[in-house]
Amino acid sequence: MSAPHELTAEQCLAALRSGDTTATDLVEAALARVEDDRWGSFLAHDADRARERAREIDAMPERPPLGGVPIAIKDALSTRDLPTTSGSKILEGFRPVYTATCVDRLERAGAIVIGKTNMDEFAMGSSTENSAYQVTRNPWDAERVPGGSSGGSAAAVAAFQAPWALGSDTGGSIRQPAALCGIVGMKPTYGAVSRYGLIAFASSLDQVGPFARTVRDSALLLSHIVGRDEMDSTSLDWAEPIRLPEATDLRGVRVGVVEELMGEGIEPGVRAAVEVAFDRVRDMGATIERVSLPTSGYGIATYYLLAPAECSANLARFDGIRYGAHLDDVAGDLLEHYEQVRGRGFGPEVKRRIMLGTFALASGYYDAYYVRAQKVRTLIRRDFEAAFAKVDYLMSPTSPTTAFPLGERVSDPYSMYLSDVCTIPVSLAGIPAISIPCGLSEGLPVGLQIAGPAFSENGLFDVAYALEQALAFDPSPPGVA
Ligand code: GLN
Repeated sequence: MSAPHELTAEQCLAALRSGDTTATDLVEAALARVEDDRWGSFLAHDADRARERAREIDAMPERPPLGGVPIAIKDALSTRDLPTTSGSKILEGFRPVYTATCVDRLERAGAIVIGKTNMDEFAMGSSTENSAYQVTRNPWDAERVPGGSSGGSAAAVAAFQAPWALGSDTGGSIRQPAALCGIVGMKPTYGAVSRYGLIAFASSLDQVGPFARTVRDSALLLSHIVGRDEMDSTSLDWAEPIRLPEATDLRGVRVGVVEELMGEGIEPGVRAAVEVAFDRVRDMGATIERVSLPTSGYGIATYYLLAPAECSANLARFDGIRYGAHLDDVAGDLLEHYEQVRGRGFGPEVKRRIMLGTFALASGYYDAYYVRAQKVRTLIRRDFEAAFAKVDYLMSPTSPTTAFPLGERVSDPYSMYLSDVCTIPVSLAGIPAISIPCGLSEGLPVGLQIAGPAFSENGLFDVAYALEQALAFDPSPPGVA
C-alpha cells in the first residue's frame, strides 16, 4: 500500500473501511507534511484540534461518510476555529463567528480540516504572489508559481499535503492553479455551492469548488457541498445528485474545440499536449469539431470591468472597525481612520481593482463601462449557448502557458490578467468546467479545460474520468512524494 499521505480520498475511505488505517493515522501523515511546509501552501493550522477531531471520529460506532479524511481549505472560506484572512493584512488575526456552509457540510460528513491555504489577496491574482503573507512554490518547480488565486490549495494537493482541498473560482482561480500544479480542479455551475461564508470578491462570479488528484475524488467532494442553502439566495436546489463517474468510453459524445483558444498566445508546448488529449478523445469514440466563440476575445476586458466593480462594493465593508485590523495610532476623524486602515491594510492589486471598479461605476461612466460590460457578458453567454446547440462539451487549454517563474509577472498586471484568457469566458457564462492534467511540457504540467452547459456536472465528470484513464497522467511531481 502507498504511504498514507499518498492515498487519494477514495483510497483513504477504503482503507478506513477495511481497518487498514484510522483517521488519526491519516491526520498525522497530513500534519507531518503541513508542518514541513516547503511549498508555503498553508497560512494556518491547528494540529491539536485536527488530532482531537480524528480521535472523536475513530471512536464513533459508525464512521461518517467522509469519516477522517483530511482536507485543506482556501483562506477565503470562513472557519470559526481557524483564522481567516483571505490573504490580506486587513484581516490579520480575524476569527469569523461562523463557518462557511460548504466547510460546515464537509465537517459534518466527517472531513477533517487540516489547515487554511495561501491565496492572492481577496482572490485577486493568478500566481498567489499577491498574498500579503508568503510566497507559495509550485511542487513541480520551486522557482515557479503554483498559479492562483487558490495557489495554496493547489500546491497542497499536488505536494501530497492533503488528498483534496477547497478553492474558489471567480475567473479561473481553481482551474488555472490546478492546471499549473498537475491536478484536477473544478468550477461548478454558478449557484451549485453556497457562497455563505466565502469572503466575497465578485459575487456574480464567485463559486467554490474542489481540487483533487483524481476526477472521482473531485466528484465525491463536490457531491458533499452542492445544493440549496437558506443563507445564500443564489444557491440552487440540486436535482440530480453528483455521482462518481465510471464512463470508459466517449462513444456518441460531441466535443467542440474552441478555435479562439488554440491560436495566438497559447504556448506551443501547451497546444501540443492538449492536441494529444484530443487524439485520445477521438480514440475513445467521440467526435471532435472546431467551434467558434466569436465574442470570447472580449472576456478579459469585460471581466476587468465587472469583477472590479463588484469588488469595489464588496470590499467597502473592510473599514478597520467591524472586521480584522484595528489601528490605535490614528489621530483625526472617522474618514481619516478609514483612509489609514484601508491605505495600510490593502495591497497594491486590491487598491488597483477598487479604483478601477469605482471608476466603472461612477455616474457619467456607468453606462459606458459597467452597463456595456454587462451587455457583452450576455453576448458571451449566448456564444456558449449557440455552441452547446451543436456540441455537448467544449475543450481548450486551461491556461495559455505552463507555470511561470516567480516574479515574472508581478509588476505587469496585464500579462498576469492574460493567464485567465481561457477560463474567464466560462466564468462569465456561469457554466461548469473542469481542468484535468493532460501531459507535460518541458517537465511542467499542462491542463485541459472541459466546459459544459449549466448543470452538466455529472456528464463533465464522466468525460473527464474517461479521458483521465486514457491519458494516465502521473500527478507526482519529481522528488515530492
Ligand atoms: N486571476 C483572476 C483575477 O485576478 C481570477 C481570480 C479568481 O478567479 N479569483 O481576478
